[in-house]
Amino acid sequence: APGLSIRGLTKSFGGVRALDGVDLTVPMGQVHALLGHNGAGKSTLIKCLGGAYPPDAGTIEVGGVSYARLSPRESIAAGVAIIFQTLSVVDALTVAENIFLGQEWTRYGRIDRRAQEEVAAGLLERVAAKCSPRDRVGELPMAQRQLVEIAKALSRSASVLVLDEPTAALSGTEADALAERVEDLRTQGLAIVYVTHLLSEVERLADEVTVLRDGRVAHHAPMAGRTRRELVESITGGPLESTPR
Ligand code: ADP
Ligand code: MG
Ligand code: MG
Repeated sequence: APGLSIRGLTKSFGGVRALDGVDLTVPMGQVHALLGHNGAGKSTLIKCLGGAYPPDAGTIEVGGVSYARLSPRESIAAGVAIIFQTLSVVDALTVAENIFLGQEWTRYGRIDRRAQEEVAAGLLERVAAKCSPRDRVGELPMAQRQLVEIAKALSRSASVLVLDEPTAALSGTEADALAERVEDLRTQGLAIVYVTHLLSEVERLADEVTVLRDGRVAHHAPMAGRTRRELVESITGGPLESTPR
């Protein structure tokens, strides 16, 4: 089934080729781990996908529709949700207000507070969040704020979810809980791009791995009947330590 298919994505900044003909395909219901050292092009790829940068060349296909370039609005409308390390939730607003921010109006009129809170409660349940629709987001722990942002993505019917090093600011227990959420979302059919430095996370979550180096695909490995451990070793050429945190 079509999820995300990136073909030949190329982007330069001045003389620097941040991306040079990158291909990346993620079917619905799969987690694609994206690895690469600093400067490899991971953020540039994500920003092209989110419409923050126009690519110089290549196509981005989401849900069967192919785009040469996307505006941020088109990216969201196409079903792409990106959870950056710096979250975009607004601390001063409640959970429900955050989830509905920018989508308070439908063609039937404004959604009232009660209805927003009801829908928000359902979405929070779907991501097993431990907060309530009326909580102020600024008072929540990072892990809950992150779940609110994912719930917001689900409220917009996202089909492609991009997580940029989502466990970087989480405790071990929180990271473990997030991994369970990612597994749930995969089961619910989302196509997930999971940017990480941690091979333990690749081993736990990935169905397929792409390693970027200097803007190119240095390694690409599908599961193809291997264990995740074997997959990780196929991309690293042998046992490799995770980046210490
Ligand atoms: P990663 O996220 O994998 O660390 P980036 O996509 O941030 O890599 O960077 C890839 C390359 O593009 C690097 O050489 C970086 O310096 C360059 N780059 C990224 N964004 C910009 C920008 N806005 N202006 C100029 N150079 C950039
Ligand atoms: Mg970086
Ligand atoms: Mg980056």
